[in-house]
Amino acid sequence: MIRGTVLVAQEICKGCELCVIACPQDCLGLSETLNKKGYRFAMLTADSCTGCENCALVCPDAALTVYREPKPVRRPATSVQGAA
Ligand code: SF4
Ligand code: SF4
Repeated sequence: MIRGTVLVAQEICKGCELCVIACPQDCLGLSETLNKKGYRFAMLTADSCTGCENCALVCPDAALTVYREPKPVRRPATSVQGAA
């Protein structure tokens, strides 16, 4: 499975929860603490993000940036030569 992570611009977030609802992995929630505007802000609550970007697409304030791990490089199989 492709893995991803999300960076939340905490001071931009207004806690609308659209991203929480849109996340198919249920790995977003709202903080217990408040940002400077007085809103609870979105945060990753589990390590199951796949980098699908649903959350970033629905956020009305562009407060989320999604990062995906690069696909692993496939190397051709090598034969072991000169093994004694
Ligand atoms: S990128 Fe996808 S899986 Fe990751 S937090 Fe956002 S909606 Fe959830
Ligand atoms: S959709 Fe955007 S503004 Fe709403 S809670 Fe998520 S990050 Fe915050």
